Amino acid sequence: MIITLKKDAPQNVVDELINQFENEGLQVNIIHGDNFNVFGLVGDTAKLDDRRIKANQWVEDVTRIAAPYKLANRMFHPEDSIIDVANIKVGGNNPIVIIGGPCSVEGREEIIDIAKSVKDAGGNMLRGGAYKPRTSPYAFQGKGYEGILDLVAARETTGLPIVSEIMSADKISEFVDHVDLVQIGARNMQNFDLLKEVGKINKPILLKRGLSSTIEEWIMSAEYIMAAGNPNVILCERGIRTFERYTRNTLDLAVIPIIKEKTHLPIIIDPSHATGDWKLVEASSLAAIAAGADGLIIEVHNNPECAWSDGAQSLKPEKFKKLIEKSKRIAQAVDREIL
Ligand code: PEP
Ligand code: MN
Repeated sequence: MIITLKKDAPQNVVDELINQFENEGLQVNIIHGDNFNVFGLVGDTAKLDDRRIKANQWVEDVTRIAAPYKLANRMFHPEDSIIDVANIKVGGNNPIVIIGGPCSVEGREEIIDIAKSVKDAGGNMLRGGAYKPRTSPYAFQGKGYEGILDLVAARETTGLPIVSEIMSADKISEFVDHVDLVQIGARNMQNFDLLKEVGKINKPILLKRGLSSTIEEWIMSAEYIMAAGNPNVILCERGIRTFERYTRNTLDLAVIPIIKEKTHLPIIIDPSHATGDWKLVEASSLAAIAAGADGLIIEVHNNPECAWSDGAQSLKPEKFKKLIEKSKRIAQAVDREIL
């Protein structure tokens, strides 16, 4: 961390600051300039509050050199993390995983039907929301625990591991007992209490990027889960909110190489929420694979016109199947395979 002090800072203030940093176990290197004095702090500065240091009237500026995350940081963990989801390995050079399924679980028969279609098409896991974060309180809110049990039935029929979103910590035991990959949705990316709770469980977490979150904020949310004891985090880019209205969100594909450079965690792409339009899902998926994604999570519905949520961005099974076929060719071009 670099701290720039005003030149006329009184000596007792300078001494106090040096003392404070040294007491935190940091080494303070001082450069005396013509207009400023500069402190270079060496050591673990993650716990320092840069905003509080800036509150000092003699401090001109504070610049972080090291990223504020440690556990997720590639610098301290150079090898890729491989996350095990019910024996499917995600990340590193493992085959790219394809997750498909409806936005919402609508009923037992329906989810079993879709699960079969997802499996026939070549999908590797089944998604389905039982607890739905809806903008309107009058919109369908999900089938709750019944929906989780419907997913379990679909897993029993097809063998596909199940992915579902948790919205509050009081439902943790349902997810621990039944769900293979626990999704934290975009709207809860900074629900820090929920992050701490899922950090205590022994299940992999799929952490979606917040609607308007920076990459660093997103990684810090992964850090919360990891700091609470759960290292099994898969990141999911699902588009961010921009000025553009032709798409529901803007798919940020540059995050794939950035996440891989900054962290050791796997990253998958959700082209359905990123675009909001089934017609855009294939192109976005192929681009994501070309850019190095470790997986895709795609909304699939047997009858999108009648879907209880997100029908407009859901693929019919035939389209999903074609997408997987094409993905294989793109994966080959970037020395990967589709599972
Ligand atoms: C979902 O996966 O259905 C969902 C609500 O996603 P997001 O949190 O990315 O909006
Ligand atoms: Mn959805």
